[in-house]
Amino acid sequence: MQFKDIIGHKQTISALIDTVEKNRISHALIFYGQEGIGKISLAIAYAQYLNCTNKQNGDSCGECKSCKKFANIAHPDLHFVFPVVKTPSISNPVSLDFINQWREFVLKSKFHGYNEWLQFIGSDNLQGSIYAQESQEIIRIINLKTFEAQYKVVIIYLPEKMNITAANKLLKAIEEPPPYTLFILITEDEASLLTTIRSRTQLIKINNLSVDELKEALKEEFNDTDDVTLNDIIKISAGNYIYARQTLQQETNSGENILSENFNLFTDMMRNSYSLNIQEITNTVEEISKLGRERQKSFIEYSIRFLRENFILNISDDKNLNYLTKKEAEFSSKFKQFIHKKNIDKLFEEFNNAFFDITRNAAPKILFLDLCLKLAKLLKVKPD
Ligand SMILES: [Zn+2]
Repeated sequence: MQFKDIIGHKQTISALIDTVEKNRISHALIFYGQEGIGKISLAIAYAQYLNCTNKQNGDSCGECKSCKKFANIAHPDLHFVFPVVKTPSISNPVSLDFINQWREFVLKSKFHGYNEWLQFIGSDNLQGSIYAQESQEIIRIINLKTFEAQYKVVIIYLPEKMNITAANKLLKAIEEPPPYTLFILITEDEASLLTTIRSRTQLIKINNLSVDELKEALKEEFNDTDDVTLNDIIKISAGNYIYARQTLQQETNSGENILSENFNLFTDMMRNSYSLNIQEITNTVEEISKLGRERQKSFIEYSIRFLRENFILNISDDKNLNYLTKKEAEFSSKFKQFIHKKNIDKLFEEFNNAFFDITRNAAPKILFLDLCLKLAKLLKVKPD
């Protein structure tokens, strides 16, 4: 991965190049920012640049022996630590047990999400973790001498999933860094990391992708998709490539327009719940229940986003804050008044609970009927 292949993050890349040119390479960095913006790719591109033997024009060459190994992320001095799951054959898993799948996962796209990783290793119903036994692996990596490179680079994906024993081992490594070793921690929740780790590490904020950057990225993967669909999806994705990709994939797989189907179901659900029309509620619930589990989860994610945008619209009236398609914006002009400080937390809670229950295989008819009845009450809560 060369810097030229990275979409967006131009300023961050200049700052990273600067650290090498001015010989101010840190021993530990935290890349923090939301999911789906390319943080892993950026970390790999920096590691490749550091070790390239023929750097030119602010980028790695892509041709030298080191670059070739980085291109397959198979350089012996590039190490990864990431959340893993227990399987029937692996009861004490460490990252190394999953390294082949990890390489494949990282190489298949420039953008990566945690749930996608769990699905990739066939474990979307389990929680991943960086387990205590990973400490041994961290010690092993630290004690390794560098094989070929100038810098040994250890990329730790989602240190917030780290067991405390492993986190303390990492802290010790960062406190007494072995020479020519760079740790790059990639996090979506920097506040949850040990303060002692944060204070010894240089924090680098990785920004969301702009509309144009997200479009450029989507066009690489979905070059057949028409511009109207792309623009709609970009609007609702808030710079998150993973969300945009999932929505587009669902549309491609089902041959349906998921975005408008979600819109229709959501608006029906809200209207019927508000008017407490039991016959209509039952019809809507029937319709949602016919969808598969994954589609139901995506519908709930859609609903949470729609509620959040309406809340923001209600309290701010700043159109720039909003990520809505034209149809959604029209509906929201009236709907926004029903979503306010007095009910937003409870609404989020109910939808999040529903999401959780679906992952636990709850019966959809009972679950969505129950949700509609709760909505009937919550939508009538007065703003003041
Ligand atoms: Zn090179």
